[in-house]
Amino acid sequence: MSDTKKHPEIWNLLATIPDPEIPVLSILDLGIVRDVTQEEDELIITITPTYSGCPAMNQFEDDILSKLKENNYQNVQIKTVYDPPWTTDWINDEALKRLEEYGIAPPVKGTQDKGVLFSEGVKQVRCPVCKSTNTSVISQFGSTACKALYKCNDCLEPFDYFKCI
Ligand SMILES: [Zn+2]
Repeated sequence: MSDTKKHPEIWNLLATIPDPEIPVLSILDLGIVRDVTQEEDELIITITPTYSGCPAMNQFEDDILSKLKENNYQNVQIKTVYDPPWTTDWINDEALKRLEEYGIAPPVKGTQDKGVLFSEGVKQVRCPVCKSTNTSVISQFGSTACKALYKCNDCLEPFDYFKCI
């Protein structure tokens, strides 16, 4: 993880930016901000996109720039790095808990196999409502491409599952 002791005021501001799709998570919770550095008078924010093609990414950049501008950081550049690729493991545990309370089943750690995005390989998805693991996938694409739609076979609630990568 990055050295958060540098530019703590910037990290604090970034911590207040919510995920555009999941308001209970901040962009720091997602782990997409890799580094904050300064070169001369330019602030450089390094981010790693989540799911490629996730429409939220442009939103992240806009939100970061406008949040910093509001706080008088005018000279900001966003640098995107793809290596190492983002994984749901970068979401911190406390945020995973909030995700479940919000009604989205958090990614099941240790199942980072691209195959699970397209198969029913994830067996232990837990219902965020009643915590039953007796769930089944309805659609690999839920409200967004980053989520799959599941249904709980016990309480019969449909819910989103945040896919693991
Ligand atoms: Zn349930």
